Amino acid sequence: MTGGRVRTLAARCILLAPGHELSPGEIVWDPAGRIVALRSPTGRVQDVCVLPGLVDAHVHLQIGPAAPRTFLPWVRAVLAARAAETAAQQRGAARAAMRELLAEGVTAVAEIDATGRTMRALRGLGVAGRCYREVTGFHLDAAGAARLLRQHRPAARGDLGPGLSPHAPYSVSAALFAAAARASRWLAIHCAELPEEQRFLHTGKGPFADLLQELGRLPGGFRPPRVGAVRWLERCGVLRETTLLVHCQELERPDAARIAASGATIVVCPATIRWFRRAAPPVPAWLAAGIPVALGTDSRASAQQFSLRGSLAAAARLWPGLSPGQLFTMATTAAARALGRPGLGTLRVGGRADLLLVPARSDRASDHLAPFVHGGLPVARVFCNGRPLRR
Ligand SMILES: [Zn+2]
Repeated sequence: MTGGRVRTLAARCILLAPGHELSPGEIVWDPAGRIVALRSPTGRVQDVCVLPGLVDAHVHLQIGPAAPRTFLPWVRAVLAARAAETAAQQRGAARAAMRELLAEGVTAVAEIDATGRTMRALRGLGVAGRCYREVTGFHLDAAGAARLLRQHRPAARGDLGPGLSPHAPYSVSAALFAAAARASRWLAIHCAELPEEQRFLHTGKGPFADLLQELGRLPGGFRPPRVGAVRWLERCGVLRETTLLVHCQELERPDAARIAASGATIVVCPATIRWFRRAAPPVPAWLAAGIPVALGTDSRASAQQFSLRGSLAAAARLWPGLSPGQLFTMATTAAARALGRPGLGTLRVGGRADLLLVPARSDRASDHLAPFVHGGLPVARVFCNGRPLRR
């Protein structure tokens, strides 16, 4: 490294994106953290391989651990914990969680912000991505939905863009989905996560009906749509290219074709799959159908290990047929495109200097992909928007 206004890092190899490398290579970036050159080095190189910073496509940074491993008791535990926390505790939790992710090389996130406190919590960390303001309201009509969205405006700061997260088909009314679709181009929705969710949409019965009743959010005379989650989201006008569909554990037969046609991205969270002992969804078939798939960590409440690298290694075990390049893409460029930030998750001139350094095993960057995705290479150093992360 050299001091001064412009910084330079020469490495044995640099992975720009899967299939593209510079070996050996030199990265030059300006004081604002923008890459100004990628070139062959002229002097000595460090004994490292440089990879692009990771992009977490679904995380709830504010949520702390919760014990239950069945879904509805778990939801109740998460809601009770949130109600008992102070604003300072929520901001502190979000900042601590982000620092943990940064330390393993996650420099961009799709954060689901339930309180509107994430932006302030992440101040000064230099993180990129999108902050999706979460909204719920199964009882809301058009006027109520408009009122809620006036109070929960999507916010943006620095390289964190704005978005909305109408939570799920069992917690958001058709009017609120429609209003969210008008209010923000960028949406993140928990979709088809559980059999009980599909049952509720088809029949209006089951534990979600009971929960809504208990919360006083089931409108009198409610009639279920009698279609599954994906068709319901399509009808509500939110199944579109700029929507993240999170989980998709319980898709119905024609749903994959519908999602593929919409261009929406599916986000899978391997830690959550393991936490609730769910079956692995058919990610290879989705990719073959042309659906973009990205990886998320979800939250500490549904993970033994809160880590995108841990999720990447778990994904490699859940879907052994996927190549290291496909898996790495799910944690970088696929996630970045889904957030509407295609410059993230890759190294290119004009892009952010989000770099993670691992010990070099050879002069070929591609040799490092397989051990990296399987969790075998320690991260030696991280630069977020050009700034070295202090440990
Ligand atoms: Zn989630």
